[in-house]
Amino acid sequence: MLKNPKSISDWGEASGEKESAEFSTYMREPFDKAKEAGEIPEDVRMESYWGSFTNAGEIPNLNAIHMAGIDSTDVWDLTRGEIEGRQRVMWAVEALKKYAPGFEKARLRTIGASIGCRESRKIIGDYDLTEHDVLNQAKFEDSIGIFPEFLDGNGIAIMPSTGRYFQVPYRITLPQNVENLLVAGRCVAGDKVSHAATRQMMCCTVTGQGAGVAAAISLETDVTPRRVDIARVQEALRAQGVRLD
Ligand SMILES: Cc1cc2nc3c(=O)[nH]c(=O)nc-3n(C[C@H](O)[C@H](O)[C@H](O)COP(=O)(O)OP(=O)(O)OC[C@H]3O[C@@H](n4cnc5c(N)ncnc54)[C@H](O)[C@@H]3O)c2cc1C
Repeated sequence: MLKNPKSISDWGEASGEKESAEFSTYMREPFDKAKEAGEIPEDVRMESYWGSFTNAGEIPNLNAIHMAGIDSTDVWDLTRGEIEGRQRVMWAVEALKKYAPGFEKARLRTIGASIGCRESRKIIGDYDLTEHDVLNQAKFEDSIGIFPEFLDGNGIAIMPSTGRYFQVPYRITLPQNVENLLVAGRCVAGDKVSHAATRQMMCCTVTGQGAGVAAAISLETDVTPRRVDIARVQEALRAQGVRLD
């Protein structure tokens, strides 16, 4: 791998310029070779990176299997994804052993217990976060926290290495036309590109904490979450150590 270094921009085609200089454990050649040899079907997307390599010589996280076109609200699609996904894991391991130097004696320890879905239902909110917002340090009066310019998904990989960040608006947790409901995590309102930021676990914690505090204050003050006093929510979040600006 060190002989054939890769960058973050190999992972996300629509990455920024700086990402082409940032190191990545990205790998594609072993899978391409397996395809050339007819061992993996040509139309199967397979590329990989791993998160760490332990002292015990293990890679706990190998992210190689990506399947598009699966409706995660449809149990039959999920079942098909699980079956096909497990088959692809076996193909990936064989390809790594055969074509990736260092993997000759690799053994598969475990496969994810169930299929993981990046994207499913999302709300249309009182505000829908946009690509422009997450890439241009957007500011909002109803900020419930901040999140770096850090995107991963839908072909974009931008790493949080600049200190740039946007404010996360409370309104992306409020579904239009529904009272007394707050939505946090990856289902918050926003376009496809902004989802590559808001779906990240640390952004899910921002919207989760904001929504939780707002829910408590709405109960305390006997108003629906839409009518909650945002200044009071922000004060409570600050008292909990949340950075809002
Ligand atoms: C394969 C994969 C790799 C990822 N890698 C990363 C990564 O490296 N870094 C990163 O930041 N993000 C990563 N993500 C994205 C991130 O993990 C998710 O976007 C995030 O965890 C979503 O959080 P959430 O709270 O919105 O939903 P979830 O974490 O899915 O939580 C929803 C919870 O609700 C429960 N639930 C569902 N229905 C009901 C019900 N009816 N009653 C009670 N409980 C219910 C579910 O069991 C689940 O525990 C990855 C996602 C996937 C799929």
